[in-house]
Amino acid sequence: MSYSTINLQPTFKPIDNLFLDRLRHFDDGGGQYRSQNLPKFYDYDRVDSETDHFDLKVWRVPDDKNGKTARPLFKDIDFDKIDWEDAHKGNMYGPSWKTFWFKIDWRIPEDWLLKKNDIYFEFNCDCEGLIYLRKGVPLQAFSGGGRAIFNLTDDLKIAGNQRFYLEIACNGMFGNGDQGVPDENRYFRLNSCDLVLPDVEARRLHLDYWEITDLARELDHGATKFQAALIATQIMEAFDPNDRKSVLKCRKLAQQILGPDIDSDEVYHQNPLNRIDVYGVGNCHIDTAWLWPFAETRRKIVRSWTTQLKLAEEYPEYIFVASQMQQFKWLKQDHPDVLKRIKEKFTTNQFLPIGGSWVENDTNMPGGESLIRQFLLGQKWLIDEFGAPSTVFWLPDTFGYSSQIPQICQQSGIAKFLTQKLSWNNINSFPLSTFNWKALDGSQVLVHMPPANTYTAEANFGDVVRSLVQHKNLRDVPTGLLLFGEGDGGGGPKEEMLEKLRRCRGIANTTGAIPSLHLGKTVEDFYENVLERSNHGANLPTWTGEIYLEFHRGTYTTQANVKKWMRFSEIKMHDLELLATFLSVTSDYKYPSKEIHDLWEDIALCQFHDVLPGSCIGMVYYEEVFPMLQKVMKTLDSLTEKALKHMNQSKDTEICALNTLPWQRVDLIELKENELPATTLNDEIAVVTENDIKKFAYCTKLERVLSKNDLKFPASIKKLHNDVYLLSNNLLEAKITKNGVLKSLYDVKNDREIIDTTKTKQSLGFGNQFVLFDDEPLTYPAWDTEIYNLNTFRFLEEGEVVSVVSNALESKIVVTHTISESSSIETTISLKGATGEGDTDEDNYLKFSCNVKWHEFYKFLKVQFPVTIYTPQFALYETQFGVTQRPTHWNTTWDIAKFEVCHHKFMDLSEHNYGVSILNSSKYGAAIHGNLMRLSLLRSAKAPDDKADMGEHHFEYAIYPHKGPLNAGVVKTAHNFNYKLLPHLGDSKKQKSLLDTLTLTGDESLVLSSIKRAEHDSDVNIYENIESNSKDTKAIVARVYESLGGSSKGKLHFKGIKVLKVLKTNAMEDDGEELDVVDNSVAIKLRGFEIATYKIIIRA
Ligand SMILES: [Zn+2]
Repeated sequence: MSYSTINLQPTFKPIDNLFLDRLRHFDDGGGQYRSQNLPKFYDYDRVDSETDHFDLKVWRVPDDKNGKTARPLFKDIDFDKIDWEDAHKGNMYGPSWKTFWFKIDWRIPEDWLLKKNDIYFEFNCDCEGLIYLRKGVPLQAFSGGGRAIFNLTDDLKIAGNQRFYLEIACNGMFGNGDQGVPDENRYFRLNSCDLVLPDVEARRLHLDYWEITDLARELDHGATKFQAALIATQIMEAFDPNDRKSVLKCRKLAQQILGPDIDSDEVYHQNPLNRIDVYGVGNCHIDTAWLWPFAETRRKIVRSWTTQLKLAEEYPEYIFVASQMQQFKWLKQDHPDVLKRIKEKFTTNQFLPIGGSWVENDTNMPGGESLIRQFLLGQKWLIDEFGAPSTVFWLPDTFGYSSQIPQICQQSGIAKFLTQKLSWNNINSFPLSTFNWKALDGSQVLVHMPPANTYTAEANFGDVVRSLVQHKNLRDVPTGLLLFGEGDGGGGPKEEMLEKLRRCRGIANTTGAIPSLHLGKTVEDFYENVLERSNHGANLPTWTGEIYLEFHRGTYTTQANVKKWMRFSEIKMHDLELLATFLSVTSDYKYPSKEIHDLWEDIALCQFHDVLPGSCIGMVYYEEVFPMLQKVMKTLDSLTEKALKHMNQSKDTEICALNTLPWQRVDLIELKENELPATTLNDEIAVVTENDIKKFAYCTKLERVLSKNDLKFPASIKKLHNDVYLLSNNLLEAKITKNGVLKSLYDVKNDREIIDTTKTKQSLGFGNQFVLFDDEPLTYPAWDTEIYNLNTFRFLEEGEVVSVVSNALESKIVVTHTISESSSIETTISLKGATGEGDTDEDNYLKFSCNVKWHEFYKFLKVQFPVTIYTPQFALYETQFGVTQRPTHWNTTWDIAKFEVCHHKFMDLSEHNYGVSILNSSKYGAAIHGNLMRLSLLRSAKAPDDKADMGEHHFEYAIYPHKGPLNAGVVKTAHNFNYKLLPHLGDSKKQKSLLDTLTLTGDESLVLSSIKRAEHDSDVNIYENIESNSKDTKAIVARVYESLGGSSKGKLHFKGIKVLKVLKTNAMEDDGEELDVVDNSVAIKLRGFEIATYKIIIRA
């Protein structure tokens, strides 16, 4: 090869950073060299709404009769009867939340039509919009500058006048304010309403160049990085601003890096590396409510999904997944035609429903049965509409993962789980990306957390690279899922993203320098690949128990009412289902299956991962969720009352109380005085009268109200000499100071003092001590509470006793505490009289009923009990179908991170021979550190709802000391504290025979937690396409779980029904193993913490 002997003009080595920085000039749409560079050529031509190619009119949808924003559907509007107004570019539309419809008539310039070129409609009003054909077919969404182009399909590239309608909602993708309180007075400007004849090659070159320069900038090292910089420089140098054709030359240069196949899906058919490192799947996370109401979500769904249907048409490699069957149901109600189009793309594997649950629910707070129902509702809907259930639980964005999720998934036919939120941990980095997650009972699911740490990737070069390099356990199966597409407020992938991804794959094909990304494989394909390469998962690491999110710990407490009403709704539902099931298999009572189904849908909806946690804007709670849950409770009450009436006859006048729990108990019931028949009362009966209410103690074993003689341990209260009150039933003795705190709680039988009176930094030595903490998190006020505020608090010391009532049945003392000028607490501390026999021991707790006036600013109210339990390093907190263990110490950062945790009906701190539980009936936040037990009561975060929790609150909790460690007695007592006996005037024999229909005996830790009718019984089935069971049979479904963590045995007994067969099924009630029925009972056996479902098939 020849070589010059003399160097006349020396060559300089480019200065890397200067050459790299200069590359930005080429496609900078807003830069000062725009007219000299590529943006000059983006359009051939453009006409706008101010030219005679357009007629543009607008109509503001009037508010409804209550003055609220109306959102009528296309089909409900008579477009011919509207008084249209002229609309122009630059006009403002608003205020926030309102709806406008544009009527758009356009005429495409005829010379454009000869060119066989793409034609765009560009619309940008800075808010969300949806364009419809004049006949009402929704085509595609707009969302301001980020999504402004509608690429006309061929059937729309025609001459003459064409009419479209375009609906805009006066909100952005994130409502009307992000994180803060929404701006109620926002207006949106019509920036563009244009027809565009684009230079497609120039726009493609922009994308080519984007990826090549990202490669040059973002690759850490290696020759490819510099090759990319060189090619980008050559492209700039080859570009001639006076010659549009130079664009083609530039694109040819780009092929050196991108390869020749990027203008079609062909690029994915070439695989020189012979491997897939990253599976790309489109999605658009639509929060079912958050910074916007449910009503707007219904429109976000159709906006987002029609857009994705259009993309699926244009990009054959594209697969889109959508979760939350509630959203599919709304779509079916509002736009059945769009659901039909989705089903077409479902058959070609491009639009895939996923997830299995009704909504993407919170997993911390819903009760166990609720979590099962999330899946039962979701999976059955999927089977009904799409013919098959989901195999993946899809929950990218939720605030922590309770320890029984893997078991509940497995019980719902799901073995794979996807989430992402854990990358938000603000203390420790979670160590795994692909792993087995093991539940309390040992059930496991295969988990993947997308390594790019987002479910809303923009599909940039960096997202593709991070999907592999940030994988936490690359040694196992080195592949990652890339979830791309705008999300949270919906939206989903854009054309541009799919173009960028084609180029990323081109780079991998050509250079091998970046992970090989693939499109066209499903999420299930991804998991199958992981299983294949990991010996069916056996080689993957395991995470056992709760996956605690180290963030958003305030969500266990914020918006107290949604949490309280959720607990109440779940309990009322439990009671109704039990009663209705027994009545419907023993009488002519008709099981209200449609009503029950609809109520479950509402309950499940309100468990969405921003709704139940309390992180939505106020509008969601005050206009939608609170009325919805209040209606749920009211409907449940009235259905239960109807069912009780069906059981009773008008001549029945005995005071009865229906016990919906599977064990005997004694508890107080309340009846209105004027509804009581005079004959039922006599002087012997133990009673407390308050206004027109009478309280009795009902014993379910004796099936009657207790008489005074039954109370072997009557309650009483008396004032001791030193301004201390003694509340006692001779089993428990509580000493309460005149300031309303608990100075002593003494267990007489076990000779044990419960309250540790030592004065420390965190304790004044009293129980029931209210503590007011500052609550100023770094970010996200409704979501977060931070550890530093554990050090900034004051005790509420100046309480006052306002009244005292001594009664053998229930004695009490009422105390008040001032919190501030506008806030205060009134607490009734009470103790019941006891019979001292067996089961009643279990309900011997000191109860606190609080009425709070709460008008605080960034304060957190908690109540604490320092107890004489010293040795446990772990405390136990009730969770769904079991208990979760958390440290009581601060040894490591992982322990410190759990400074506030979620629990259900009880938390427990126990030494081997004695323990203390705190019970509650509507609270979820808790913490036990050292010997200090704290229950979180109320927060006062000011964003995104500045009125959150302001006003009056009522809640109850109790302290329950017990012999031995956590035991079945605690589980039962916590249930009793939540599930009230249902008083009615009836006949105790009828009540007993009804409740005897199905009973459980055996090990004490077994809980018969739910009774319902089988989903597909002919008188129950509400599904259109799922066949009903034979009319000759009916079935009862009974859920039993083991509550303490030990293999257990028991028996289910049947009475008054003709049992044909008993099956142990999964939670979806699919047929399973048959059990032997012997003497009208079946023996059952459960693993520790197992959730078991039994289907008892009977003759109808
Ligand atoms: Zn979300």
